[in-house]
Amino acid sequence: MAPNELVFAALGGIGEIGMNLSIYGFGDDRRRQWLIVDCGVSFASEEHLPGVDLILPDIRYLIEERKNIVGLVLTHGHEDHMGALIDLWPRLNVPLYATPFTAALFEARRVSEPGAPQIPVKIVPLGGQLTLGPFAIDFINVAHSIPESNALAIRTAAGIVLHTGDWKIDPTPLIGAPTDQAKLTALGDEGVLALIGDSTNAIRDGRSPSESDVAKTLADLIRTAPRRVAVTTFASHVARLRAVADAARAAEREVVLVGRAMERVVQVARETGYLDGVQDFRSAESYGYLPPEKVLALCTGSQGEPRAALARIAEDEHPEVTLSRGDRVIFSSRAIPGNEKAVSRVINGLVAQGVEVITDRTHLVHVSGHPRRDELRDMIGWVRPQILIPAHGEALHLAEHAELARRAGVAHVLVCRNGDLVGLTPNGPEIIDEVPSGRLYKDGSLLVNAEARTVAARRRLSFAGIVSVALALSEKGVLVADPEVELIGLPETDAGGASMTEIARDAVEEAFEALPKPRRRDPDAVAVAVRRAVRAAIAQSWNKKPICHVHVLAV
Ligand SMILES: [Zn+2]
Ligand SMILES: [Zn+2]
Repeated sequence: MAPNELVFAALGGIGEIGMNLSIYGFGDDRRRQWLIVDCGVSFASEEHLPGVDLILPDIRYLIEERKNIVGLVLTHGHEDHMGALIDLWPRLNVPLYATPFTAALFEARRVSEPGAPQIPVKIVPLGGQLTLGPFAIDFINVAHSIPESNALAIRTAAGIVLHTGDWKIDPTPLIGAPTDQAKLTALGDEGVLALIGDSTNAIRDGRSPSESDVAKTLADLIRTAPRRVAVTTFASHVARLRAVADAARAAEREVVLVGRAMERVVQVARETGYLDGVQDFRSAESYGYLPPEKVLALCTGSQGEPRAALARIAEDEHPEVTLSRGDRVIFSSRAIPGNEKAVSRVINGLVAQGVEVITDRTHLVHVSGHPRRDELRDMIGWVRPQILIPAHGEALHLAEHAELARRAGVAHVLVCRNGDLVGLTPNGPEIIDEVPSGRLYKDGSLLVNAEARTVAARRRLSFAGIVSVALALSEKGVLVADPEVELIGLPETDAGGASMTEIARDAVEEAFEALPKPRRRDPDAVAVAVRRAVRAAIAQSWNKKPICHVHVLAV
C-alpha cells in the first residue's frame, strides 16, 4: 500500500438520512492519521424501536484509533451532524472544531443536558482555515437551513477532497452569505480528487426555491390572519425565525416564543449576531395578555413531538398558550420521514378545534435546505471532481445522485455503504477494506448496542406480551403448589370467552403431566416443555405467540 494513501469511510449517514459521521485517513495502512467530520444522531420512531430516543453511530473503531485522530470538525449545527457528541465525545476526547454559531449552539445544547461533561470547542472563523496533521482544511460557506453551514475542502498530499456537508444554492438566503461559488470554482481550477456530497434531494428536479420566497408567503399569511397566529418551524432555522419576526412586525404583532428549544436558539442567534435588528420577543407568559390580532406565537413542535409546544397546544394542555376557532397555524416545515403520523395527529387536533392549519401542501411556507438536481449539476460543474461519492441519503437518493454525476461526466462514481473503507486515487475509488460500524441506541441514560437483544425483546413484548409461569418443584419432581401463571399484554379471553389465563394454566399442567417421571426432576427439561406448551396453546386461541418465561423453583 502506498505511503501517501488517502482513504474515506462513513460510520453513519450513507444509506440513511441522519447519524452523519465521516472519517478521512492519510498515511499507509499500518499508520494512518484520521480526521473526523461530524458526529450526528438519527431519531428513532417509537413503533420500530420502543423506548429508544436516539440512534448514534457505533464508534468502536475510532476508540481503537483514538491516538491517531487529529481532530473532529463540525460542518454545521444540525442534530444529524452534532447530536451524538455529548454522548460520544468523552469516549474520544479529541480536539473539536466548529464555526462560532455552531459552537455556541452546541454549548447551549450541552448545558441544557443535565450532567453533560465539559466539552471544549475550538472556534474556526467563517471562511477560515485549519491544519490538522496531514489535512489542511478550508471552510467554504454554503447556504442551508441553519446559519453557518460549511463545505470542507480537505487538502492532502494525495489530493483535495470536497466534503460538501449539507447545502443548497440560494442567492437570497436571508441570513449569511450565499453558497460561495467563487471559492468552489477556484477549487475546481486547482483540481479536486473527490467530492463527497449531499444526496438528500437528488430525486427532485429543478432548484429549491429561496428563503426569500418563503418570507414573502409568510408575510402575506401573517398580515391577512384574522385572529391569533401561531407559526412552527425547526428551532435552529434562524433565517425562518427572522422571516417570521419581520412579518410579525409588519403586521404589528408581538412575537411570543413558546418552547425551550426556540428560546435556546433565539438566545444563541442573538449572541452571535444573526438576529441583529430584530425586535425583542416576549415570553410565553405574556401571551394571554395580548389581544388576538396583536400576537404571534413562534412554537416548537413542527415534527409533532408530543412534548413540544404545538402538540400540547393542540391537545389544549399548554399552560399559557391556547388557540381557538378562527386562529391560524402555519407549519413552516415539512415532516421528516418517520414523523408524518405524529404531525398529522397535531394537525388533526388543531383542525378539530376549528383552527385553520396552513402547510407546504398548499402554500410556499417551507423550502428544503438541500440541493435539487440542477443544483447538484452546478456543484459538479464548479468543482469538476474526478471521483464522486454520494452521501447523506437513503439508497434511492444515493443511486439517483450517482446516475446524475455519471451523466454530468464525472469519471468515477462510487456508491458505498457505512463501514466501507474507500481508497481515493486518481485511478478511481476502490473499496479496500471494511471498518467496524453499526448503531448504538440511547435507551434512557444508557447507550446499548443495536445488536444487543434489549430492544428486539421489547418490540416482541409490545407485539404479543408475555406469559410468566412459576413452578415449585420438590427434589422428587413433584409440584408442591399450583403453578403461578401471569399474563401481561394478552387478551383476557379467547373468541369463545374462555379465560386466557386458564388456557395457559391448563397447558402448564398438561405439559408437566405428560413428562415422564424422571424428566420431571430436571428443572431445565420442565421449563422447556412448559414454555413450548404454553406458547402453542395460546397461539391456537389467539394466532399470536407471546414470550413465555418459565421459572422453576426447586424446593
Ligand atoms: Zn443540516
Ligand atoms: Zn444533515
